[in-house]
Amino acid sequence: MGEKFERFGLVSEIDASDTASFREKIFLTFDVDWAPDFVIRDIDRLLRSLELRATWFITHESDAINELRRYPNYEIGVHPDFSPLLMGKAGALSVQQVIAYARSIAPSSTAFRCHSLVQSTPLLYEMFEAGFTLDCNPFLPFTPVEALFPWRHGSGPMRIPYCWEDDTWVIGECRSPQEVVSAHGLAVVDFHPIHVWLNSESLEVYEGIKHDFGNEDLLRSKRNDESQPGVLSALHSMVDAVMVR
Ligand SMILES: [Zn+2]
Repeated sequence: MGEKFERFGLVSEIDASDTASFREKIFLTFDVDWAPDFVIRDIDRLLRSLELRATWFITHESDAINELRRYPNYEIGVHPDFSPLLMGKAGALSVQQVIAYARSIAPSSTAFRCHSLVQSTPLLYEMFEAGFTLDCNPFLPFTPVEALFPWRHGSGPMRIPYCWEDDTWVIGECRSPQEVVSAHGLAVVDFHPIHVWLNSESLEVYEGIKHDFGNEDLLRSKRNDESQPGVLSALHSMVDAVMVR
């Protein structure tokens, strides 16, 4: 195994009783958020070219998602969306239906992070009962990374906190990518394929296109140049910082 392989972990490898399972590693996670296949494929290619390992929290099924499943450096988790139910939207699926769908698209997955971080004790219990035992919802962007540990929630799942998220970073509410990965602690970081692909440097562009994901020409016209600061450059600086720490 290469040095880089050793530095990047999958969240299912985190062992709460063994700090050595996470202290020297970075855990890249991706909330898919219904990204179109051409976006997923581009990010997949990028991660493979950099020889990175990653946990993908999937929202749906597609050909590009199936390609992720076959790559051994990835693991598949789920990103269930309970928010329509919470917002009282017409036709919203029940909790049981949302979880059954998540299970149907990821039959053997254990890890999850809910869309919009919707969480509650009964939800955690229902997820745990369905075999989703690793809850990656707790977001603690300003707790020292060295102080972060997984813990068992009373409803069953292991809670695995994460400390950095791309769309929070672009609004200035996260520490720098370098700072997060230079610490030796529990460093789980969260990207969205669309923000890496757009190289987002604000949320304005995303807000303008998020209901128009099928329009590839529109999306391509909105990409921030790779030479500019943005989420893509944050990913690169994180990877670079991991390799020199
Ligand atoms: Zn989401």
